[in-house]
Amino acid sequence: MKKVKIILAFLISAVTLAHAQTDNGMMSLDEFRNPKKRKIIQIPDFDGYQTLKCDFHIHTVFSDGLVWPTIRLQEIWQEGLDVMAITDHIEYTPHSADVKVNHNRAWEMVKGLAAENNIVFIKGTEITRQTPPGHFNAIFIGDASGYLAGHATNEQDKQAVLKAVEQDAFIFWNHPGWKVDQIDGSYEWVDFVDELHKEKNLHGIEVFNGFEFHKKALDWCVDKNLTVMGTSDIHNLVAHDYNLGDFIHRSMTLVFARERNASSVREALEAGRTVAWAGKYIAGKEEHVRNLFNASIEIGKPFHSKTVKNSEGVEKTTNYYEIRNNSDLYFELVLKSGDGTGKIVLFPQTSQILTAASGQDYLNYEVITAFIRSDKHLIAEIPLK
Ligand SMILES: [Zn+2]
Ligand SMILES: [Zn+2]
Repeated sequence: MKKVKIILAFLISAVTLAHAQTDNGMMSLDEFRNPKKRKIIQIPDFDGYQTLKCDFHIHTVFSDGLVWPTIRLQEIWQEGLDVMAITDHIEYTPHSADVKVNHNRAWEMVKGLAAENNIVFIKGTEITRQTPPGHFNAIFIGDASGYLAGHATNEQDKQAVLKAVEQDAFIFWNHPGWKVDQIDGSYEWVDFVDELHKEKNLHGIEVFNGFEFHKKALDWCVDKNLTVMGTSDIHNLVAHDYNLGDFIHRSMTLVFARERNASSVREALEAGRTVAWAGKYIAGKEEHVRNLFNASIEIGKPFHSKTVKNSEGVEKTTNYYEIRNNSDLYFELVLKSGDGTGKIVLFPQTSQILTAASGQDYLNYEVITAFIRSDKHLIAEIPLK
């Protein structure tokens, strides 16, 4: 009897197996499906800080963006960023015939998903006044409803920003050079902004906004001790606007934070520990740009040396080094002083050979992809051990 049962069980499983292999008229074609994976943006941590990759300026269908809020979270996760703020316009909701105006809705939709995906999600809004002064982002806000939408007078502009102040927001001036052709071909530090700054109600300025470098903003940040910001201000899909690839990223702010959480991000922003990054370029206060460069670049011991005699019979020894870029940043170096390789291009996560005449302690390079003022690049010292 037991034997019969075993045979029966075997037969049943064989039939089940045969059934599974039967063509049921359906076939999965997954070859071209995007695998679910998150990119790693390689930027070294340093001095006990984590380098968080942040985008604090993002739009959705709840203002003039073309994208649903949850898709914004998917993009951030896939692209390898750590921190996001959705900052829809308060005053500008062109999809309102199709999407009910609710300034808190994007936040509500995304916050749970962000937590489940280890993304630090910060509540924000874009206060959208006429130019000048133009637009301000307020992040770490409370209730996003009740912000004044009319923008007829200077006083109304002020009231809208003061609402964010009341909520203890971190406030930054957006794309100050936007519409520059419409404002007499230049953009200036305007009275409205000066007043906010003097009242300590302005905390940062966008130096990079999407594909734009607002160069004067970098000088203002340095001179007035404001935080250097870089954002995407993305309205379409990120993959539509950016040619995303292994080493191509949206414009963003690198924040040097003690921990990966909202309060640490806030503390770092208030302390001004940021570098803005867009395309091949970084911009920030000298101290932070230098720290980031030093954390990213590594030079080994000389691996070879060669001695040659010149036409006068004088011997010269040249040492060979490998110089590595351990980050996704681009560094283009032009020799400023010393006797060595004249120009070095360090693509993301690559190395180059550097040569230097022996007997020198270091070479000085101008890093032409790293801005510390609108007209000034980082000068980096490369030690020759
Ligand atoms: Zn704007
Ligand atoms: Zn915007």
